[in-house]
Amino acid sequence: MLDDADQCLSFSRRGILLILSAPSGAGKTTLAHELIARTSNLGWSISHTTRPRRTEEVDGKDYHFVSEETFLSLQDQGAFVEWAQVHKAYYGTTRTTIESTLNMGQDLLLDIDVQGAEQLRACYPEAVLVFILPPSWQKLEDRLRARGTDEEEAITQRIRRAQEETRALARYDYCVINDQLEASVGALHAILCAERARVSRLDLSLLRIAPAHSTCDTPS
Ligand code: 5GP
Repeated sequence: MLDDADQCLSFSRRGILLILSAPSGAGKTTLAHELIARTSNLGWSISHTTRPRRTEEVDGKDYHFVSEETFLSLQDQGAFVEWAQVHKAYYGTTRTTIESTLNMGQDLLLDIDVQGAEQLRACYPEAVLVFILPPSWQKLEDRLRARGTDEEEAITQRIRRAQEETRALARYDYCVINDQLEASVGALHAILCAERARVSRLDLSLLRIAPAHSTCDTPS
């Protein structure tokens, strides 16, 4: 009996767009990978980019690495639902990536900058925007220095840019301060679970209220 009732109360819904933005060095990529690994029904949006592939990256898995010519041609065809130029390279998300995932009822995680997040919000007002912050500007500086990939001047520039990007925070729905990885992944997971339970996302036409002492058959 209880099983029947459970079946009656499962709703279908469109997938959720979960957008993460963060200043470089805030730990967003690690958080995103951990969240995907631990969450069912959550896909990863693979962006197109013109920036060179890093050694550890795989084409078609981390990004679709394309030439500037290919990127601009896709842009001309209207393939991107959002795009931006970040650190001199182009980045964009195709409409088909988003639509095919959401239509299957699967949620989609996007790691995009603040310009892209705002464009997506305009097309998908129901998207969930999460801003990841470092615990302090000093810690951000320490992390950037520990990475050992930037010169002093580049580090100063990244911090300035990070502070600039953080102005967009007020337009986001949630903010997670990434101090401890476990706690931050837990917070992101909780945000997604709460959004999945939002009544406005459920297809209520599937709701059947059972008559008293009966199963959940549709009344004729
Ligand atoms: P990275 O080159 O370090 O992977 O990413 C650089 C920046 O580009 C990050 O802030 C990342 O969030 C952003 N980014 C990655 N993919 C996209 C995308 O498809 N669209 C936009 N707007 N930004 C992106």
